[in-house]
Amino acid sequence: MAEDIIIAAPKLTAAIEAIVAKGGSNAREAKLVAENLVEANLKGHDSHGVGMIPRYIQSLVEGGLALNQAPRIELDTGPLVRLDGQAGYGQVIGHDTMNIAIERARKHGLSAVGLHHSHHIGRIGAWAEMAVAAGLVSMHFVNVVSRPIVAAWGGGDGRFGTNPICIGVPRKGADPIVLDFATSRIAQGKTRVAHNKGAKLPPGTIIDNEGRPTVDPRFTVIPPFGAIMTFGEHKGFGLALIAELLGGALTGGATMRKAYDGSMKGVYNGMLTIVIDPERLGTSNHFQSEIDAFTGWLTSGPVAEGFDKVRLAGEPEREWKAKRLKDGIPVDQTTWADILASAGKVGLSAAEVERIAGIAG
Ligand code: NAD
Repeated sequence: MAEDIIIAAPKLTAAIEAIVAKGGSNAREAKLVAENLVEANLKGHDSHGVGMIPRYIQSLVEGGLALNQAPRIELDTGPLVRLDGQAGYGQVIGHDTMNIAIERARKHGLSAVGLHHSHHIGRIGAWAEMAVAAGLVSMHFVNVVSRPIVAAWGGGDGRFGTNPICIGVPRKGADPIVLDFATSRIAQGKTRVAHNKGAKLPPGTIIDNEGRPTVDPRFTVIPPFGAIMTFGEHKGFGLALIAELLGGALTGGATMRKAYDGSMKGVYNGMLTIVIDPERLGTSNHFQSEIDAFTGWLTSGPVAEGFDKVRLAGEPEREWKAKRLKDGIPVDQTTWADILASAGKVGLSAAEVERIAGIAG
């Protein structure tokens, strides 16, 4: 297997920014997209990092991704806001959506913002992190409108997307808790990463096109398609169902009910965001002291065999980030070749991308 290319975060950001800008995005959009994707790589989620660029550029070329959009306000009661993402880059739409959700929660104590028809909004933790940085609790239910790739519990083919759920809890004087995961056993991008690396998936993760268990990631990447299973059996499936209904339908957007016919041009997300200001609930000091006491109790017990310590959600991502800021970001050769090819589609040469990324030709 060919060795990964190691690229320092600022250089990788500059290279992705150049590709997005060449695609027609304004400077703000190019910067937000590049920073968001590289942050996902830094946090260890390569599935939602720069490897998404080929998919985005394909969407752009096919007309599924609209450039330089802002969320369009469809309804505004103050704490309740409904937004149309207008098929814009999710990194911009998500960012602007959270600014609205945060501002309204500060003003009213609580906000619920329904966003529909955004192009792919990436790592949902990025949006919770904006809220926790403002001292707010943030909850996100997300659906994915694209090729259906996750099977219902008991079902034998893909019927919906990887429907992530994310909850952020702010802490005073300590790192926040950010729980952020797909309701599928594995995020789809991780099956792509495994496929690109020629790796197998853990048993029990996916089924093949006949509904049989398999460890071969190709069944989620190239036809004939199988499906990813939900995590936690019927429980994860239940959460996926709720994410579909709240993220897709309650927000005014679409839910999945279409077999894949190859006509879907982009990857779209709907997201219900609920933000609560603990100050306005009057429990802020109590909340913080209970978080400290409970997490202290949680992490002070004996460590089970095979573990080095008890971690709280958000901690692994911070550990990844510290390591990758120091060592650089590994990008596998297939992903890098796909990124260079997509740069070519918008008229930026591979040599120029590699020059910006600091890779010797
Ligand atoms: P994952 O399985 O890596 O789980 C991540 C979560 O588990 C994080 O909150 C992390 O802090 C926590 N965690 C991990 N190891 C832990 C440990 N040892 N102890 C305690 N907590 C631990 O995540 P995933 O399901 O592969 O999702 C990856 C990313 O994909 C997420 O950022 C998600 O938002 C994103 N996603 C986006 C979409 C979309 O359509 N936009 C769809 C699916 C997933």
